[in-house]
Amino acid sequence: MIYKNIFDTHSHYDDEAFDSDRDELILSLKDKGVVGVVSCGCDVPSTAANRDLAHKFDDFYFAAGFHPENLEEYGIDDLSLLDEYLSDEKCVAVGEIGLDYHWMESTKEKQKAFFEAQIEIAKNNDLPVIVHDREAHGDTLDILKATKPKGVLHCFSGSKEMAREIIKLDMYIGLNGVATFKNARKSLEVVKEIPLDRLVLETDCPYLAPEPHRGKRNDSSYIPFIAERIGEVLGMSVQEVLDQTCQNAKKLYNI
Ligand SMILES: [Zn+2]
Repeated sequence: MIYKNIFDTHSHYDDEAFDSDRDELILSLKDKGVVGVVSCGCDVPSTAANRDLAHKFDDFYFAAGFHPENLEEYGIDDLSLLDEYLSDEKCVAVGEIGLDYHWMESTKEKQKAFFEAQIEIAKNNDLPVIVHDREAHGDTLDILKATKPKGVLHCFSGSKEMAREIIKLDMYIGLNGVATFKNARKSLEVVKEIPLDRLVLETDCPYLAPEPHRGKRNDSSYIPFIAERIGEVLGMSVQEVLDQTCQNAKKLYNI
């Protein structure tokens, strides 16, 4: 089955998992119905690598930012290194930014400082943010409520209540392959809480390949598997879910 209007709102095509065939793979996505990809920076080198890909390929965009797991070598003054990327015409967001208390509990305060400062940068540049929240729901929500950026909470793993709060802030919610996993009841329950115009799809590739490819390398062409599972919950066809989420993604990133 060939689908159209597949938009991958969150990926990491700079990852070494793509080193052997990156260009061929990205070029092949168009024939598989992919109409847009946003590849996220996690520090300066990865932001630069994604910018270069965005310059090379049509329908390919990038986000510039410092991921909470990549702060070790950087100080808050290094945020000015993002400036040259933020003014690029293919930069559509500040990301991925946020809080990760699963891997990086000891750097909480530094993470919060980077998160808040990058939200400020996004607002000053009139760009949305791409937010990573792993086991940090309380602090993430507090900071978003206090700063009110536009943007998306990616790989959403919170409760129905948290989904409602994010919607109230006018942000989008990103779902990925996790929604297709056998133990995904919680993330699928949340789908019903999200208004259709607030939902976007993503791979987070090369990670989190959906069933039936779980554990393998992920790429944007697998998004219909996610749309299928969500469609089952919402009573929509795969293509209807793809059409709606593509439209939302373009609005989110102002494309
Ligand atoms: Zn990511």
